[in-house]
Amino acid sequence: MAETARILVIEDDPDITRVLRFELEEAGFVVATAADGVSGLTAAREVMPDLVILDLGLPDFDGAEIARRVRKTSDIPIIILTALDAVSTKVSLLEGGADDYLTKPFEAAELVARVRVQLRKHRGGDAITLGLLEIHMEKRIVRYSSKEIRLSPKEFELLAFLARQPGRVYAREEIERGVWGSNLDENSNVVDVHMANIRSKLRDVDGYGVIRTVRGIGYALKGQ
Ligand code: CA
Repeated sequence: MAETARILVIEDDPDITRVLRFELEEAGFVVATAADGVSGLTAAREVMPDLVILDLGLPDFDGAEIARRVRKTSDIPIIILTALDAVSTKVSLLEGGADDYLTKPFEAAELVARVRVQLRKHRGGDAITLGLLEIHMEKRIVRYSSKEIRLSPKEFELLAFLARQPGRVYAREEIERGVWGSNLDENSNVVDVHMANIRSKLRDVDGYGVIRTVRGIGYALKGQ
């Protein structure tokens, strides 16, 4: 996924702002900055960021108040930067609408990692889209042509397993180890049975040719 997410940094310390801008842009994000609460709130409306990084100690407003105000009109992730290390403060920040916090001084790499986690969460987990097929890994939802397909837990795991590398042919033994944890009895047809079930459910929503059988070898999920 191309990371063109917009990040708004509300921070009054120019050195920290500079480092954040550099690291976030390096990581592929588009960065906007504001040096106080008022311009931060204005920017939050105008820039329409995908995520806000918010310093708790701003010259005009308390950062926690900014978080509450942003939260009133938007559900975007908010990561708080704080010099405070008190547990009670952290708890009240998270209850007040922040999604995560980082105590200063922090590693830039750590912050970028947290940003990615929050953006992914906000987007509803890792979703894989292959043509008309959507697999939402975290929510365990599968849709074809926007219609939900109800799979059993094992059927879901099987489909998700094939989706790791769409187009790649997985041998039956690989599938057994990956989904059932070990190789099944040589005469077991459990993989084929599950595959047939998934195909039948896909056909119910006009999903034909989504899974390819490679005779004598195994199965592949159509790449596009
Ligand atoms: Ca500050």
